[in-house]
Amino acid sequence: MIKAQRGTKDIFGLEAAIWQGIVQKAKNVFTSAGFEEIKTPIFEATELFSRGVGDSSDIVNKEMYTFSVGGADKTASSITLRPENTAGVVRAYIEHNLNRQSPPQKFWYFGPMFRYERPQAGRQRQFHQIGVEMFGIKEAAADAEAILCAVSFLKAIGLNSLEVEINSLGCKKCKGEYRSSIKEVLAPYLEKLCDDCKMRYEKNPLRILDCKNEECQKILELEEVKKVIYKDYICDECKEHFEELKKYLDELNIKYSINKLMVRGLDYYNRTVFEIKSSALGSQSAVCGGGRYDTLVEMLGGSPTPAVGFAMGVERLYSLIEKPLESDDLKLDYYIVSTNTLEAMKLASKLREKNVKADYDMQKRKFSKQLEKAAKAAKKAIILGEDEIEKGFYSVKDLKTGEQRRVNSFDELV
Ligand code: ATP
Ligand code: MG
Repeated sequence: MIKAQRGTKDIFGLEAAIWQGIVQKAKNVFTSAGFEEIKTPIFEATELFSRGVGDSSDIVNKEMYTFSVGGADKTASSITLRPENTAGVVRAYIEHNLNRQSPPQKFWYFGPMFRYERPQAGRQRQFHQIGVEMFGIKEAAADAEAILCAVSFLKAIGLNSLEVEINSLGCKKCKGEYRSSIKEVLAPYLEKLCDDCKMRYEKNPLRILDCKNEECQKILELEEVKKVIYKDYICDECKEHFEELKKYLDELNIKYSINKLMVRGLDYYNRTVFEIKSSALGSQSAVCGGGRYDTLVEMLGGSPTPAVGFAMGVERLYSLIEKPLESDDLKLDYYIVSTNTLEAMKLASKLREKNVKADYDMQKRKFSKQLEKAAKAAKKAIILGEDEIEKGFYSVKDLKTGEQRRVNSFDELV
């Protein structure tokens, strides 16, 4: 038997109905906030991610599904299944000159992402993200708006008590100085760092700060190292930006804590980074990760454009929300019980046009069999016997109460 690939999952039945509900809520919350939906392709040029996500990130280093397509040698091009969607949205933003409208330009998306990771609870190889990207605003109000929208959506799906963590990485200038001092203080310990961190040391030393490896953790706990990593390093402008964000969050009554060691996995962030976590999730605790990426649009060939965004893992949201035992989406309004297939088909079609969920028997099964199916699949049965067809009325049976009554017009059915 051929089975689904490791780290992938089939979603159907009640689970699919609940997923639909989550995505519908996202659509409601984000469109009410002026975000437009954007759908970008699932595969892109590999270079988009190596440049856009960054060579030093775990994603680009170890987690990409990359393959060659096209003719052998010269014409072959390397494409990658998207591991995240910011790079793709930024590409589309540049390619279609979406900056023509006055800022902000706000987009939301939903779709599958692919990362070659070790599958475990909360970690799959094909997973789904709901995310937003907002372009054109450098003010801290945009950072606050992003967090506000994320929190509003989480509330809308019933998740009220998640922990928001924020940090500021600073800008090119102050981040650069911080990088240098981290490299300096870690230099004597370079040999003891894990292999990943040895590579990060060269390419993105800040990432060493949230390495989960025990040996690396020990080094980060050393007094002299701590003194450097917890230093207040961001410049006055970045500080002011961060203070403004905090003020907005305070005024909006959004509780948060500051996590000075949070640097996030992607290379492109500057200033604000944030995560939303739930302790109920165990070690894969983040449902949402985001931040500001003011240099990415330019790096990918657009004109300098400040931007901020976030992405949430739908599988992790799903595992956290309270799940109903059944869903109305899975029940038909009517199941038409009739041995006259054509009449049943016509009636079902007319009801469906009115957005009434209806289905019927296609096998001319016995009335009793059809009623059994109706009881499982629908709220009510419409009995369409010879008498009903001839005289033009419907017998409607409530499948919960068993009560049956005569309905004289189609409109009344609707
Ligand atoms: P993590 O630290 O859990 O690996 P990340 O920093 O790699 O997260 P992001 O790239 O910020 O994750 O993606 C945003 C969100 O997408 C995460 O907070 C998480 O909810 C979800 N996510 C990321 N990778 C996976 C995965 N392999 N399986 C399921 N969900 C994932
Ligand atoms: Mg990851």
